[in-house]
Amino acid sequence: MDAGGPPRVDTSERPVVVVWELTQACSLACRHCRADAQEACHPDELSTAEGRSLLEAARRFGEGQLVVLSGGDPMARDDVVDLVDYGTDLGLRMTLTPSGTERLTPDRLEALADAGLRRVALSLDGAGPESHDDFRGEEGSFERTLRAARAARDAGLPLQLNTTVCADTVDELPAIRDLAEELGVVLWSVFFLVPVGRGAVLDPIAPDRAERVMAWLAEVADDAPFGLKTTEAPHYRRVRLQREAAGDGPSGARPPRVIAGDGFVFVSHVGEIYPSGFLPRSAGNVRRDDLVERYREADLFEALRDPDALKGKCGACPFNAVCGGSRSRAYAHTGDPLEADPLCAYVPPEYDGPLPPTLAATGP
Ligand code: SF4
Ligand code: SF4
Repeated sequence: MDAGGPPRVDTSERPVVVVWELTQACSLACRHCRADAQEACHPDELSTAEGRSLLEAARRFGEGQLVVLSGGDPMARDDVVDLVDYGTDLGLRMTLTPSGTERLTPDRLEALADAGLRRVALSLDGAGPESHDDFRGEEGSFERTLRAARAARDAGLPLQLNTTVCADTVDELPAIRDLAEELGVVLWSVFFLVPVGRGAVLDPIAPDRAERVMAWLAEVADDAPFGLKTTEAPHYRRVRLQREAAGDGPSGARPPRVIAGDGFVFVSHVGEIYPSGFLPRSAGNVRRDDLVERYREADLFEALRDPDALKGKCGACPFNAVCGGSRSRAYAHTGDPLEADPLCAYVPPEYDGPLPPTLAATGP
């Protein structure tokens, strides 16, 4: 989530995004939920005081650090407005990814705006009630999300839309794109499914389909009145570079490379420090470890930032410094976060090593 702000950062020193999973609690039960959301808060989740310490640690990365309060449903905690206020006073850029539930009232959105919230991100995985509600497993979720989107706009909060790409949703993307424009979003974040948590029950799209979707997204990005970024699909940057080289798209600013552990750090509801919520391998816990030191120096984080540490075709890839593949997806499929990303259709020239099973079945 780029909520506007500081220039590019040295991602070996500080992340572009710090995500704090405030809680696992959520009143919805989406069948793809990464967080395995539960109705009740976990008894050991970080307290308000611990959360404030975490925000102070995030501030030590530097002025204007972007912090995403995530979940679960962050609105399930009573202290969410206070935390936004506290983070804003520290000089952080505070943003929020609430669930589309009744908890997201116009009053609370206004309170969040008054506390300094910089952006609110809502999820839409279908362009209409039927597809979205089916995907979310909750009737009325589509309408509630649209109501919340309008209320956010009325409160003066810039809006981001998040969409999951998988076999169930991929055909909806063009209509969701139009809805994003209609809603006046500032950013559309397109998340390519990683089979983690309950997301393991969904079918991902095949690599060649992902390639076509990314080419289409590049066209959308060239024309749309909103920003567009992919999540867990850094090969979108490779696709854009190839288009530019072929004269098929304007050269210019590409979204920054943000992958697990490189530009991104995730703190779980009980304080575990992960490279990403989709790569739940711990490098420490904010209750006992220094977040800044762990991000900069933990072996896991250093390896994830090193293109030379990558394996398989990602290791041999000429694009690995600009892409690097989804380390979370590699981990989910192989247990090794440095392995090749099985969603990428690209095979480097002259590479003759093993291919991920998704590609080995059909060949390059
Ligand atoms: S709204 Fe989000 S946190 Fe809640 S169940 Fe769905 S995916 Fe999980
Ligand atoms: S092979 Fe790996 S590094 Fe190369 S473009 Fe694909 S995902 Fe990125």
